[in-house]
Amino acid sequence: MARRDYYNTLGVKKTASQDELKRAYRALALKYHPDRNPEDVDAQRRFQEIAEAWEVLGDPQARATYDRLGPFFKANGQPPTPDELGEYLTDTIGGWFGKRGDNAPGEDIRYTLTVELEEVLTGVEKEVQVPRQCTCTRCGGEGADPDEGRRDCEPCEGTGKATGRRFLRQTCARCDGRGWVTIKKCTRCDGEGRHGSEDALKVKVPAGVATGQKLKVRGKGNDGHGDGTPGDLYVIVNVAEHALFQRRGPDLLCELPITFIEAALGAQVLIPTLSGSMKIRIPPGTSSGKILRLSGEGLPVPKQKDKRGDLHMQVGVEIPDALSEDQRAALEEFDRRTGPEAHPRRAAFDAAVTGRTEG
Ligand SMILES: [Zn+2]
Ligand SMILES: [Zn+2]
Repeated sequence: MARRDYYNTLGVKKTASQDELKRAYRALALKYHPDRNPEDVDAQRRFQEIAEAWEVLGDPQARATYDRLGPFFKANGQPPTPDELGEYLTDTIGGWFGKRGDNAPGEDIRYTLTVELEEVLTGVEKEVQVPRQCTCTRCGGEGADPDEGRRDCEPCEGTGKATGRRFLRQTCARCDGRGWVTIKKCTRCDGEGRHGSEDALKVKVPAGVATGQKLKVRGKGNDGHGDGTPGDLYVIVNVAEHALFQRRGPDLLCELPITFIEAALGAQVLIPTLSGSMKIRIPPGTSSGKILRLSGEGLPVPKQKDKRGDLHMQVGVEIPDALSEDQRAALEEFDRRTGPEAHPRRAAFDAAVTGRTEG
């Protein structure tokens, strides 16, 4: 989209004849030609703008279309998109308030931070190294090298104001109102005004956080361009998988293998918790799949002070898969001594199957 005023770029009135336009173009093209300004990046930019303006205004047909469409003129003849209309309005309103495009705010950035489940219990402060764009430490964001990288702007004599009588005081188009032009790019940022950096940053991770949760750190995104405000940093939490515990919201699930002797007779066993371990009692006659609930041994519930979820211990009876002769004999003896009343579920199952076979 043609956001610049092509007539202004060539320094002529809208009513100028094609001959006047041609003369203005030739004079400017000669003045800003890269061959004449080998180290002047601003001059090179100006030269491109002049060439672009001439490409349109130098062709009477394209010029007529440009006059009609103004800022929505496109060299390919396409109508403006809604995005371009919006951009035009932003530029125009920005222009009224003296906001320059190169003072754009910094971008927001995202950083994924992995925390351990134990840290979810307590909350934690982590030091992270976030790669971001910071204002150049050498040129202060100006883009011109502090070592003889700039000189006073000639057309405005360093004032930054456009010359000539105008209704509105305009900024100098040559230097964008800065009063100086770049003749050598900053060696640290290559003229961009920002460069990559990795600052150590402390991030507070609250207790009870879950994977995918975003923590906003205001102003720690990329620094803005020029006087632009910095963006924000979004720390995305990732809770690492735990060897023992699975998470179910604020509750924790843990598998508890017990022997079939413990299952039958009951036992005291040591189980893990997030902060250490504790002893629990397994009641006699505990079957596989049974869940023993330990109230308040789960994770903190967000926004509910001192409230914690539960720890669910899921019992799995471990059956030996290789028995010695001696062990086998002992179990066979046990089997002889027990009747169907020892395994009522098995007895009921057998009865049901038998009924089907006979019916
Ligand atoms: Zn720099
Ligand atoms: Zn100037």
